[in-house]
Amino acid sequence: MDKFKEIAKGKAKSMFTTSNPSELIMEFRDDASAFDGKKRASLAGKGAVNNQFNAFIMDYLGDNGVDHHLINLMDNTHSLVHSLDMFPIECVIRNRATGSICRRLGTEDGLILEKPLFEFFLKDDDLGDPLVSTEHILAFKWMEKDELNLINKELNRINDFLQGMFRGVGIKLVDFKVEFGRYEKNGKKEIMLADEISPDTCRLWDVNSDKKLDKDRFRKGLGNLIEAYQEVARRLDILHEQSNIRPLKYTKPQAVKIKKK
Ligand code: ADP
Ligand code: UDP
Repeated sequence: MDKFKEIAKGKAKSMFTTSNPSELIMEFRDDASAFDGKKRASLAGKGAVNNQFNAFIMDYLGDNGVDHHLINLMDNTHSLVHSLDMFPIECVIRNRATGSICRRLGTEDGLILEKPLFEFFLKDDDLGDPLVSTEHILAFKWMEKDELNLINKELNRINDFLQGMFRGVGIKLVDFKVEFGRYEKNGKKEIMLADEISPDTCRLWDVNSDKKLDKDRFRKGLGNLIEAYQEVARRLDILHEQSNIRPLKYTKPQAVKIKKK
């Protein structure tokens, strides 16, 4: 499958059309950005780690009945996905308070939340991705009510699966962000989990030391970001090699099956 035309260049990934109008190629670049794009860098190997990470996680969720957009892992930095009509909403699930919620509400950093807290942000870089309520989402028709209900259920399920998966390898899933889109084929509509789930989009802390194993290493200038991502990947058995930079030679993970719709 060849890339045809770049239709979107986001802060960390590029989307390309293919010969099949209902499929896109998602390229994971090495670009890192934080603070609405104000801090930027290129981190060798990040695209490859995140691409393989994302494929592993999507496949894990797929095996647990979560519909997602991944069709196939193509190579180190490319995945083939279903082309979706994306909801303009970022869904954040928090198991502990940290990051923007502490800045907004002055809550204690690291506070354990009694039950997962969902927050929704409008995807609009010019507006700085503002926090929106479910009432806003419905009033402005960014999602229909049944879609929002289904997504709320999926968020709980995804959080449960991922928390269990990470806990099993000694990692606390503090928070994460996901996106969804509408998929339509032969008049049949489906909601699918889209975009990526990787250490770029999650906060992951070591259970014993609280060491940050996610993009906060970049946001806070802690260094060794790729090494931290690799550590998570090794614990999950996604990555088998021990070398440092650019360690991921493409090997098709056995877990990733081709799921044709
Ligand atoms: P950002 O938009 O935050 O800078 P990225 O660099 O991750 O993000 O760019 C990827 C873009 O592709 C995002 O806008 C995302 O919503 C979109 N996207 C992800 N999955 C799909 C999909 N299956 N179909 C269409 N668009 C998608
Ligand atoms: N997140 C993301 N993309 C964004 C904003 C947030 O993947 O554009 C993730 C982030 O990595 C964290 C969670 O969503 O795991 C919550 O982020 P928060 O709202 O605390 O924002 P931040 O502190 O990153 O500004």
